[in-house]
Amino acid sequence: MMEQSIESYIKNLVRDVIGQTLGELQLQNDRQTYVIANWKMNKNLAETAEFFQKIKSNNEVSVVVCPPTQLLYPAHLFINQTKKPIGLGGQNVHWADKGAYTGETSISMLKDVGCDYCIIGHSERRQYAGEDDQLINQKVKKAIQAGITPIICIGETLEEKNSMQTEQVLSTQLFGALKEIASSNFILAYEPVWAIGTGQSATAELAQQTHAYIRSILTKMIGQKAESISILYGGSANESNAAEYSAMPDIDGVLVGGASLHAHSFDAIINVFTKGEQNQ
Ligand code: PEP
Repeated sequence: MMEQSIESYIKNLVRDVIGQTLGELQLQNDRQTYVIANWKMNKNLAETAEFFQKIKSNNEVSVVVCPPTQLLYPAHLFINQTKKPIGLGGQNVHWADKGAYTGETSISMLKDVGCDYCIIGHSERRQYAGEDDQLINQKVKKAIQAGITPIICIGETLEEKNSMQTEQVLSTQLFGALKEIASSNFILAYEPVWAIGTGQSATAELAQQTHAYIRSILTKMIGQKAESISILYGGSANESNAAEYSAMPDIDGVLVGGASLHAHSFDAIINVFTKGEQNQ
């Protein structure tokens, strides 16, 4: 019909006709939009300093950067120095409070170095570190108890997608990760494993359809609170496809790997979601 989506067409129409935004009419969701960087095992100290110097951020969307563990504290200092509204997150956490767990990081250690977020259950940890839903559930509980917002990752493999198991896999992962959790202080990231780092991003339509399914499962679990949970898309998201995701009603931001390593591409993605917020 025209270049803008039906959703933004209706929003603009309401604004034009009765002089109120959909937000004022409380028809709009109040979910927070996030653009989150997962640097994985990349960057050194100098590159980290340069990134935080260059990156632009704003108060329209929540920007969170998740560097490797040894860069968390310097990243915290760089964020403070530059006074940019950027949140900090770990990429993983251990379920125990402390003890003989060589190479691990506890939740209090993350808090101590300025983290408010932590990625939990990333497919690379499921694949390479053998993390299962039960372990992920323990970590999610630990994070929520400590006041750290978990960014819980779920997603199907290519084999599971091809054998039409996506919905079953996602619902098992969701029920597993959120077992015995009453709080709604978490973020979900739908990250199809076949899309991560491959350049084969899910189409915005497929991602929207899957996010809507995830929200329907969440509604069964936590009722109306499901409407307030931000569900991010992750898997080869970049500055070229971000606008398509941002136009979708159930996609509340992106978790970005490769394209988050360069300030210019990450900034471009932040800009896309900022415009999306301003159009609401
Ligand atoms: C990720 O690993 O969380 C991710 C989304 O990676 P990429 O953007 O590189 O696919």
